[in-house]
Amino acid sequence: MKKRMYPAKVKVRDVHYDITLTECVDPTDSGDTITRGYCETKEKLIVLDSTLSEQELFETFLHELLHAAAHEHAIKLKHKTIYALEGPLAQIIRDNFIFVPKR
Ligand SMILES: [Zn+2]
Repeated sequence: MKKRMYPAKVKVRDVHYDITLTECVDPTDSGDTITRGYCETKEKLIVLDSTLSEQELFETFLHELLHAAAHEHAIKLKHKTIYALEGPLAQIIRDNFIFVPKR
């Protein structure tokens, strides 16, 4: 895996979401032809486009995590709110924390 290391799983509330990086992002239930990633809340799966730049990939990761967190905590978040939060959240984490995935 290139760039930033991502964990194979991420715990959201009390469930684990598998994280997959792939060059071929193809959401099953979306008509979108272009997507940077997606979150399947039933399958507990986050898929990310591995061809993105490091910054895009991290923002997409946070975007999909926000979908997972909203689902697992039954928080109603509008999609435009998730889009608005992904960049600022990525900046705060990037500029203040070292991201070390569990093995
Ligand atoms: Zn989304």
